[in-house]
Amino acid sequence: MIDYILKELKIDENYHGQFVKIFELKTELPGLSPLPEDLNLSIKSYLQNMGIKKLYSHQIEAVEEIKNGENVIITTSTSSGKTLAFNIPIINYLLNNPKATALYIYPTKALAQDQFEKVIEMVKEIGINAGTYDGDTPQERRTYLRRHSRLLLINPDILHIGILPNHTNWSSFFSNLKFIVVDEAHYYSGVLGSHMSEIMRRLRRISHYYGSYPQFILASATLKNPEEFSFKLIGERFKVIGGFENLPYKKKLIILNPPLIDPSSNLRRSIYKEAVWILKKFLQNNVKTIAFVKSRKGVELVTRMLKNSLEPDEKEFVSSYRAGYTKETRHEIENKLKNGKVKIVITTNALELGIDIGALDATLIVGYPGSISSIFQQSGRSGRHSDSLSILITGSNPIDQYFAKDPDYIFTKNVESISINPENPYIQIPHLKCAAYEIPIDIEEDVEYFGNSTKDIVQKLNRDGIFEKRSDKYFYIDRHSVAPEINIRGAGQEQIRLFDSENNQIIERISRDRAIEETFKGAVYMHLADTYVVKELNLQDNFAILEKKNVDYYTDSLAIETIWIQKLINEKRFRRVNIYFGDVLVEEKVRGFVKKQFESDRRMGSEELDLPLIKFTTKAFWFTIEEEMSKKIADLKEDLPGTIHAVEHLLVGMTPLVVLCDRNDLGGVSHPLHPDTQKATIFVYDGIEGGIGLSEKGYERIGEIFEFAYKTVSECTCKDGCPSCIFSPKCGNENSPLSKNGAKILLKEILS
Ligand SMILES: [Zn+2]
Ligand SMILES: [Zn+2]
Repeated sequence: MIDYILKELKIDENYHGQFVKIFELKTELPGLSPLPEDLNLSIKSYLQNMGIKKLYSHQIEAVEEIKNGENVIITTSTSSGKTLAFNIPIINYLLNNPKATALYIYPTKALAQDQFEKVIEMVKEIGINAGTYDGDTPQERRTYLRRHSRLLLINPDILHIGILPNHTNWSSFFSNLKFIVVDEAHYYSGVLGSHMSEIMRRLRRISHYYGSYPQFILASATLKNPEEFSFKLIGERFKVIGGFENLPYKKKLIILNPPLIDPSSNLRRSIYKEAVWILKKFLQNNVKTIAFVKSRKGVELVTRMLKNSLEPDEKEFVSSYRAGYTKETRHEIENKLKNGKVKIVITTNALELGIDIGALDATLIVGYPGSISSIFQQSGRSGRHSDSLSILITGSNPIDQYFAKDPDYIFTKNVESISINPENPYIQIPHLKCAAYEIPIDIEEDVEYFGNSTKDIVQKLNRDGIFEKRSDKYFYIDRHSVAPEINIRGAGQEQIRLFDSENNQIIERISRDRAIEETFKGAVYMHLADTYVVKELNLQDNFAILEKKNVDYYTDSLAIETIWIQKLINEKRFRRVNIYFGDVLVEEKVRGFVKKQFESDRRMGSEELDLPLIKFTTKAFWFTIEEEMSKKIADLKEDLPGTIHAVEHLLVGMTPLVVLCDRNDLGGVSHPLHPDTQKATIFVYDGIEGGIGLSEKGYERIGEIFEFAYKTVSECTCKDGCPSCIFSPKCGNENSPLSKNGAKILLKEILS
C-alpha cells in the first residue's frame, strides 16, 4: 500500500521532485523475557488469558524497579507497551494489599476516559474497583468513587480544582495512596508543565499529611533530559528506563520540501498548498490520514482550501479538529473518524495524544512541529495496526529549511530538552494560595516542596492580607477555594467570549492577550473552516462579536515591542561577547494589521488600531554589541539596526532547535541604543509571563544557538535575505530593516 501511494504521489502533476529523503524506520523487536515469577496468581492468569507470556526487556526492568519501590520514568517509543509495564506491578501490589490505592493522571479528560477502557479490562476480572473521575462524573458516582475506588483515572484539572482543595473528603484514599502514574508526561512542558509541577507538589504535600509516601511512575516519549525533567516536574529523584525506540510495523518517514516558485527570492510553494494536494491524493486513494498543522489558523486554512478543491460529495470526508471547539463538536468528529465517515482529519496537536480514533494509514506533518520528539509522536498516530507512511512538509522558515538540508539531523540524539519552570512566581503564587487553603503553610516544612522563594511569597501574601498568621502557620483567609480561578492551561487571564452575531451563541473562548492580537475590530477569525469578521471587541466586558462572512483574505496584527531590564540574574563570557540572563518587562502595542489574500498571501492593505498595551514580566537572555564590532560593521558599510534586527530573527528562529518549544513561545527585540545598556542590544525572551525556562536554557546553550544561526545565514543561497534565513513571519516591523550581510559579519565576529 505504502509503495503504491508513493508512486501515485510521484506521478501527480504537483510533484516536482520534492521528496528530500525517505527513511525506513526500524522495526525489529527488542528481546523478550519470561514474566516475573512472583506475581499474584490472578494477574498471572489474566496475562496468560491475554496470550502474554513474555515481556520486553524494558518492561521487565520497569516492573522490577517499581516493585523495588523506586520512582521510575519510562521513556520509550510509542507502542512499546509502557502501560503494561506499570500496570503489572501496580495491580499486583493492589491485589496483595487490599487497601492500597493508585492515581493515574492523563493530560486530558478525554484521554483518561479512553484509557479507562483498557485498564478496566484488566482489573474487572481481578476485582479491583476502578473509575474515571472528572468534571462529567455525576454527584452520586463521585461519592461512591471517593469511598470505594482503589484505582482512579483523572486529569490535572480535576486534581487541581476538585480533589486537592477537598482532600478531607478523600482522607481514606490519600491515607492508602501508594502509586501515582503520570502518563504522557512529555506533554507537561511550558505553561501547563509549570502549573503541573506545582500541582504535583501540592499532591505530595497532602499525601505526606495523611502519612503516605506514594511512588511516582512517569511514562513519556523519548526525552533528552529525563532526570532533570522528572525532578523539576515532581520534585523527587527518578530512575530512568529507556532504550526501546523501534516500531512494531513498517513505516516510511518522508521529508518533503515544497518546490521553489521564485528562485531569486527563495520563495517556496506554501506548506498549506503542498498539504492540500497530498491530502486530496490520500483521500482519493482511501488513505485514512491525520494532518497536523501548527496553528489554529493554519488548521482552518488547510481545511478550507482542501474542501474547496474537492467535489461536493467528497467534502464530508474532511474535518478540522482543534482545542477551542466545544466538547460535542469534538466527540462528533472523533466518532466519525472511528466509523470512517471522516477520512481526513486536520488538527493542531489536540489529537497528538493517544485518543482512540481508529486505525490510521498516514500522518502528514505540515511544518516542523516545534520538536523532534513531536515529529515521532505525531508520526506514531498512524500505523498502530499496519504499515504506514508519514510525511513532514518543511516550511520556508530557517528551522524547517535546516531539516530539508540536513534531514538526518532528525535522528541525531542529544538534541532538545523539555523546559518547565517550577519557580515562575506568576504560577507559584496562586498555587501557594491553593496550598494554604488546603493545609495551612508552615514555612520551614513547605520550603521543601515549593523551594527557596516560599518564604518571600508567603510573607508578602501575609502583608497583603491574603494570608493570616496564627502561631507559626499561615492560613488562607478566604473560605472559598481559589483553585477554580487559576487556568492551568493558559497564563491565568480573563477569557474573552466570542459570539456569533447571527444567533448569539458562544463559539469559542480565548485569552485577553490573544483577543488583542487576533480578534481586534476588523480581524478575520476562522472557526470550523468558516471565516468570521470581528465587528466589536469589548475588553471591559470580555466579549467580541463576530459576523460569519465569506471573505478571501486573512489578517495579521502588527505590533511594536519594547523591553526593559528589571533584574540581572546571571552573566557569562562567550567568546567575544558578554551574555546576560535576567528579568525583563515586555510591552507590546498592537498598532495595526494587514490584510492578506488567502491563496497568494498578497498584501491587500492595512489599517491602524488603538488597543491597550500588553505588558508582562518575563525572563530573557541578551547581549550587547561592543564598540569594536559596531565599528567593523560600519566600516564594511553595513547598517547596524538592520544587522542586529536580522541577528535577533535568526536567534529567535534557531533557539527552538536547542530548547524544546515553538517559535511562537519566544519573542525578540533588538535596539541600536538600548536605554538600559547604552549599547546596541539583542534580547530573546520567553513569551509567557514569568518565564517557563526557555531563555534560561538558551542562555546555558548560547554557543550552539550562535552556531546554528551562523550556519543558517551563511549557507542560505538567497541574495538579501529570505524566509529561510532572516525573515520572520511574526515580525511586527514587516521585516524592515534587515541586513543579511551584516548578520553574517556580526555572527562571525562573535564566534571567532
Ligand atoms: Zn535566505
Ligand atoms: Zn523583526
